[in-house]
Amino acid sequence: MGGDSRKERAVISVEEALGKILSYISVLEREAKPLLECLGQVLAEDVYSTFDVPPLDNSAMDGYAVQARSTGGASPTSPRFLSVIGQVAAGYLPKVEVRTGTAVRIMTGAPLPKGADAVVPFEDTDEVEQKKAGANQVSQVAVFQEVATGTNVRQAGEDIARGQLILEQGTILRPAEVGVLASLGRAIVSVIRRPVVVLLATGDELVEAGEPLAPGKIYNSNSYSLASQVRRHGGVPHLLGIAKDDLPSLEEKLLRGLEADLFVTSAGVSRGDYDVVKEVLAAHGQIAFWTVCMRPGKPLAFGTLESRASPGRRVPHLGLPGNPVSSMITFEQFGRPAIRKMMGKKPLPLPTIRATLEGSINNDDGRRVFARAQVWRRGERYFARIAGPQGSGILTSMAYANGLVVIPEGVPSAQDGDMVQVQMLDWSEDSWLRDKGVEAV
Ligand code: AMP
Ligand code: MG
Repeated sequence: MGGDSRKERAVISVEEALGKILSYISVLEREAKPLLECLGQVLAEDVYSTFDVPPLDNSAMDGYAVQARSTGGASPTSPRFLSVIGQVAAGYLPKVEVRTGTAVRIMTGAPLPKGADAVVPFEDTDEVEQKKAGANQVSQVAVFQEVATGTNVRQAGEDIARGQLILEQGTILRPAEVGVLASLGRAIVSVIRRPVVVLLATGDELVEAGEPLAPGKIYNSNSYSLASQVRRHGGVPHLLGIAKDDLPSLEEKLLRGLEADLFVTSAGVSRGDYDVVKEVLAAHGQIAFWTVCMRPGKPLAFGTLESRASPGRRVPHLGLPGNPVSSMITFEQFGRPAIRKMMGKKPLPLPTIRATLEGSINNDDGRRVFARAQVWRRGERYFARIAGPQGSGILTSMAYANGLVVIPEGVPSAQDGDMVQVQMLDWSEDSWLRDKGVEAV
């Protein structure tokens, strides 16, 4: 990687930039951790079952465990009468054996008594009538419906058979997989650990939320939107605060960020007089400055920082532009795939749909445009429209958007009615669009 001279500031495509970034990112190590903390992480072991789930044949209904043949020909007008010889609740083993002409009262999930091969639900017996009439205990039950062998019986191992490979290494743990692991009794599982992403804002003008705002200052919003993006994509954000636009302040902060898996700075990478990030980074590692062919988000720095604490250790560093919209959008394009790769997931871009554009978008300078957009569905089709003014300092345009319309480089405009690609930032039903009576995506 070279320094920051005009000559070396190459113009590269989004794909090229992503490819270079990902070539410096590796999958992190595995760790063993409590099951409940693993949601969204990637399983780092093959999981086999050592027993059947369910472990025993059991009832799928509240009713009577019987031999199917005892119910032959039963109907409401010609019931079969069975003598009730006991009962069994979920969690207990039955003490009696069912024979022809007998039945055991059984609850859902309770193990099937020996001899029984079917369960007649309460609804198909006179149980309710007897109870209504004041019977405490049912000693004989009328069955109104014939059942076949296996009716309302869950077979041992029908969910998970002993010895079976249940979840493969590489599986992303969603609520269902977490449940399956719990059903196997796993309290601790091996997963690829979450990356720690250290975030540093730079700029003399910045003040932290909660502090008074002196004249000439603005609040640091980048660290907060970026930290939230990191968390949403599965990483662990660590905020390093704000570095001033001077070398000592920046150096001091920088050296504290070296334990990160990914170090992210915002601002200070353009050509302004006080953009010192690039100098410090060049002094502490290897850094390249690219002009990425995209709007917003043109100036981007990427490199590696050397850790003094552990020589040989290199921390990938992503230097995002300072404008709040630019930093968010570049993070979605480059930071998100980097986090995914570290977590052992496919470093895919945001999911994309095709939508019909309402209104038009110009692309004057031929870069790839990421326009903040509102996306909704009407019937089977998706529609997109621009979410307000598109200046890269107008952060509310992100707040009013649920997607990014992508206009390819070299395409001068997209017109009303054109089909466009939209990267979805959100599929949430919590969207403000719902409140406007629109069928939100
Ligand atoms: P720079 O890259 O330093 O030239 O910053 C570009 C623009 O982004 C300037 O208007 C900065 O004030 C603004 N900016 C930089 N960092 C932040 C931040 N952390 N939060 C909000 N705005 C920022
Ligand atoms: Mg600045």
